[in-house]
Amino acid sequence: MYGVNKLKNKNYVKNLSNKNPTKDISLDDIKYKIPQITSKKKFIVKVNKDIVFSQKNVPIIAGPNGVESRKLIFKVAQFLKKKGIKILRGHAFKPLTFPYRSKKYLETKFNGMDWLDEVKRYTKLAVVTEVTEIKYLDRICQTADILQIGSRNMANLELLKECANTNKTIILKRHYGASLRDMLGAAEHILLEGNNKLILCERGITAPHTHKETSRFLLDIQAIVAMKELIKYPVISDPSHASFWAPWVPSLAFASIAANCDGLIIETHPNPKESLVDPLQPLNFKQFSNLLINCKKIAKVFNKKII
Ligand code: PEP
Ligand code: MN
Repeated sequence: MYGVNKLKNKNYVKNLSNKNPTKDISLDDIKYKIPQITSKKKFIVKVNKDIVFSQKNVPIIAGPNGVESRKLIFKVAQFLKKKGIKILRGHAFKPLTFPYRSKKYLETKFNGMDWLDEVKRYTKLAVVTEVTEIKYLDRICQTADILQIGSRNMANLELLKECANTNKTIILKRHYGASLRDMLGAAEHILLEGNNKLILCERGITAPHTHKETSRFLLDIQAIVAMKELIKYPVISDPSHASFWAPWVPSLAFASIAANCDGLIIETHPNPKESLVDPLQPLNFKQFSNLLINCKKIAKVFNKKII
C-alpha cells in the first residue's frame, strides 16, 4: 500500500526517471572518461564498397573457428559466398582457454594466413581474423580487412594501440568478465589513436551456468541495448561464443537482431563434430542456411537488411 501511494505522487515518479539509466556508466564517465566512444556523431563503418556497417545493414560475419586447413577454409568460404555472405572469419592465430584441450589442434599461424589470402583472392570475401600478438600484426594486415581483438585481449592496451595504428577496421570483443564501462574504456583507447573504424562485439559474459558446459557464457542482450543507447559505433553480437552450443545459436541471433544489433558473428563448419576446437558450437551448413532465412525475416520486421 505504502509503495502504491508513493507512486501516485507525481514528484516521486519524476525522481525515478533517471537521465542516465545505463547501468554503471555515469554522466561524469561520458564527459571525462569515454567522451569519444559516447559522442553523438553518427557511425558508418565502411569496410569496402559492398560492406558498410550502417544503421540499416546487419552484416553476418561467418566461418569456422580456426583456419584448420586450406581445404576447410575453401569449403566454408565457397559455401558462404553462395549464400551471399560477404565477410569470412577464421583464426590462424588463436588463444585457447585450456592449453591441453585438443592435442591435435595447432594454430596454423603463417600457413593459415596464406590460405586466408588465397581464399580471399579466389572468393573476394572480406576477411576477419584475430590478432593475438603485435609481432604477427604486419603479416595479418597484408590479408585481413578487419582485425579482431578477442575477449582475452580486450584490455591489452599495447595491442589495442598497435592495431588502431594500422588504420584497419577493428572488432573489439568484450571480455567475459568486463563491465560495459571497462569495455568502453578499452574502445576509447582505440579512438584516441585516431582510428574510428571501430565495431564493438558482445560475446557473452560469465554468469552462473544454466546447463553446465553447454551454456558457457550468458549473452548479455541488455548490453547490446545499453550500448545502442550510449554509443553510435556499430554493436555486433556473437551468439556462437556466448552459448557454445549450436542449437541455441539461432534464437540468440534472432534476439540480437531484435535488440537492434548491427551485425552478427556466426560460427559454421561443414562437419562440426570434426572441428578441432569447440565442436559443439558451429552450425552445420544446413543449420546456417536456415538461420540465414530466419535472420532475414526478422531483420525485415525491424526495417534492416542482412548482408
Ligand atoms: C573467436 O572469435 O573465435 C573467439 C575465441 O572469441 P572470444 O575472444 O570472444 O572468446
Ligand atoms: Mn571461436
